[in-house]
Amino acid sequence: MSIRSKATTAVASAAAMTLFAGTALAASPGAPGAGDSYFPKYGNGGYDVSHYDIRLNYNPTGDQLSGTTTILAKATQDLTQFNLDFLLKVKSVRVNNAPASFVSDGGELVLTPKGGVRKGQDLTIVVSYADTPSAVKDSNGITPWTKTPDGALAIGEPEIASWWYPSNDHPTDKATFDVNVAVPNGVEAISNGVFLGQTRQINGWTRWHWRSTKPQATYLTFLTIGQFEIRQSTTPSGQPSVNAYSERLGENADAAKASIERTAEITEFLEQNVGPYPFEAQGGVATPNLGYALENQTRSVYDTAFFRRGANTYVVAHEVGHQWFGDSVSVHGWRDIWLNEGFASYMEFLWSEHIGEGTAQENADYTYDLYPADSPFWQILPGDPGPANVFDGAVYDRGALAVHALRVAVGDEKFFEILKTWTAEKKFSNATVEEFIAVAERVSGQQLDQLFQTWLFTKGKPAEAPGRAGEVAASLAAGPAVTKAAEPKSRAKIQLTHELLDAHK
Ligand code: ZN
Repeated sequence: MSIRSKATTAVASAAAMTLFAGTALAASPGAPGAGDSYFPKYGNGGYDVSHYDIRLNYNPTGDQLSGTTTILAKATQDLTQFNLDFLLKVKSVRVNNAPASFVSDGGELVLTPKGGVRKGQDLTIVVSYADTPSAVKDSNGITPWTKTPDGALAIGEPEIASWWYPSNDHPTDKATFDVNVAVPNGVEAISNGVFLGQTRQINGWTRWHWRSTKPQATYLTFLTIGQFEIRQSTTPSGQPSVNAYSERLGENADAAKASIERTAEITEFLEQNVGPYPFEAQGGVATPNLGYALENQTRSVYDTAFFRRGANTYVVAHEVGHQWFGDSVSVHGWRDIWLNEGFASYMEFLWSEHIGEGTAQENADYTYDLYPADSPFWQILPGDPGPANVFDGAVYDRGALAVHALRVAVGDEKFFEILKTWTAEKKFSNATVEEFIAVAERVSGQQLDQLFQTWLFTKGKPAEAPGRAGEVAASLAAGPAVTKAAEPKSRAKIQLTHELLDAHK
């Protein structure tokens, strides 16, 4: 459901069924990309998806994935053909029940429905397929699908969908999902949203059913298969919670539980700061073999490495923070990644202060001092990092400093009002950095161009740590000047968290 096309086009169903025969129409192929300035081929044009029904079978032996995805969509223009993003081998395609011809071409599945499609027409697209996802590489030779000793991880950003279901793979086209996966009995299959139960099949396989009822971006839809301990409960707020722990966590298992089991508490804390939690379920998954963590909608997935030095609630605060910043309010284009990573990183500072391990100001001071002025760190612009640096450390650390600079400039009351206004106004949609700046200016009543220019769009180390001037003046008056900020108690865990999150490049 893109925001653009939420207004329903009034098309009589009879008209919608009419084919092009005999009429001269300005029908054209749908664009092969959604118009992302960093990744022009991501997503597609010409239609808008409202729902994915993903119904698969997965055999961990041999990494064999097969099944059918049914897509409900609406055409946004007259179409002669249109694309889905998909890399696996396709067996058949139907559009509105009629077989459609298709060609797989470098990650684009090009469909030509008989007679074309009219603007406003409802589309039911059924794609059947079978392949070995870990053996499938994109044009860069990359395979985000991870085969594990006991199953697989379909988790990745900015891309993962093409390795397990056909889609319009760009965050601007969110949809609801049913993920329905059959695996051999005794194997677990975990995905987003509410768990609707499992059914035993007669062939010795079990089918797991997960449902996401709020708009969800394609890259935030995940599948994890393997041997897991699953903990189901109800949060104090009344939401279903599902946490899952790989049976291969080894000595990190308890530290992972001591962190992820606090998801509801951390969600509640963040709600007080940034507004109501937007989704219908909560949870977290811990697993080896991932290398990072990802904010999959309602159910983030964490590599076991985050817990190798004991419990780490900072990575949980980061990923839970993304539920507002990234998942509910998603990037308009990947250039807007600061809206995700700068804010999720700032949630760690707020959590640090909340649990008494260093104030947000102390964390900001320490982060500012960490990178010398001649470090390449200061050459990456969080507001426009470039396609090669979307997950650079600067997007996280300088990004969080930019958020703190805003807080210092407008004061706490306006700052938290800005965050709450932002998450409410942009709920379930997409946004640009420029739109955030506009909301910050409107709510605060201040002109903030210079501040954001300095922190997001100017190379080089800004002259002062945000908010420190007052402190330094006070400490100079009190005695010998402090040249470097003391390390907050939270820093070691925050550092470990960021090393893992932004080291995956
Ligand atoms: Zn993040």
